[in-house]
Amino acid sequence: MDKKSKKFLEEYLNNASPTGFETSGQKIWLEYMKQYSDTYITDNYGSVAAIINPEKEYKVVLEAHADEISWFVKYITDDGYIYVARNGGSDHIIAPSMRVNIHTEKGLVKGVFGWPAIHVRTSDKDIVPTSDNIFIDIGCSKKDEVEKLGVHVGCVAVFQDELTELNGKYLTGRALDNRIGGYMVAEVAKRLRENKVKLPFSLYLVNAVQEEIGLRGAEMISRKIKPNVAIVTDVCHDTSSPLYDKKKQGDQKCGLGPVLTYGPAVQNNLLKMIIQVANKNKIKFQRAAASRSTGTDTESFAYSGEGVPSALISLPLKYMHTTVETVSKEDVEKVIELMYHFVINLKSGHDFRYIK
Ligand SMILES: [Zn+2]
Repeated sequence: MDKKSKKFLEEYLNNASPTGFETSGQKIWLEYMKQYSDTYITDNYGSVAAIINPEKEYKVVLEAHADEISWFVKYITDDGYIYVARNGGSDHIIAPSMRVNIHTEKGLVKGVFGWPAIHVRTSDKDIVPTSDNIFIDIGCSKKDEVEKLGVHVGCVAVFQDELTELNGKYLTGRALDNRIGGYMVAEVAKRLRENKVKLPFSLYLVNAVQEEIGLRGAEMISRKIKPNVAIVTDVCHDTSSPLYDKKKQGDQKCGLGPVLTYGPAVQNNLLKMIIQVANKNKIKFQRAAASRSTGTDTESFAYSGEGVPSALISLPLKYMHTTVETVSKEDVEKVIELMYHFVINLKSGHDFRYIK
């Protein structure tokens, strides 16, 4: 990771981009992508695609999602406490004692998820965080005081946090799911430009919104682009960290390389091609199997239009949907390499159908 990439990664990751309110992150990403692409498109809900060779007919997509989980302000009490609703798969268990930024038209308002002291709890079971009982305190004692700060029902709150490293080997922070994906896709474009690669097709580097609430942004932009082939990148669970169950959740581990998923939405000829590229370039990878759905934007691309050959390249991640999501820097590099080599190996017009 050179200085330029690192600076971008930090800026992009430390910015908040909650589902439905991704614009600030999308602007950072698109601004960075301009130097590595020829043009871009945007859509009504905020998904963006930076495009290399927009004039070619055969369209290839590399995609990540831009949004992150957050909390909606749902109810403000008369004495100024704020109750919340989940926006995406936000985790109430980890909320107490977290600091948040509430996004308002008057700017960011700082708050904390409060919690009763251990002294007043008779056992660990008598009060546990639930999505209904967690609350934010922004230092106000009346509802109108809260409103004067610009906080109203419908504002979103995001945990405060920033990117750090562990042992020089791991990146840790909030919303690596999936802004690290946006970073990896950007890095592919950067390398194509730096290595002066001339592609025989259009390459759409897509950063989709609204993945966390049901893969919606990808659904929309896929219909707009109508790609011939799509590679989606997202994170998956490192099931080797404590308290996971490999029998239930499969066997993926940080540091062992990209994870390739088998599942109905994954087009097998495309997956085979990715595996060939991995083997040829000595990129170690792991395998996962999805029952029915991968739960990623892969489905959105695969099932759009007449069916788009799609595949998923995942980055193993520990502690998903916490503020300490953790990934191996080496895995990040390997996912970038795999996508890069896939793109430079692919021929324009490749027909992935099983029966011709
Ligand atoms: Zn997620």
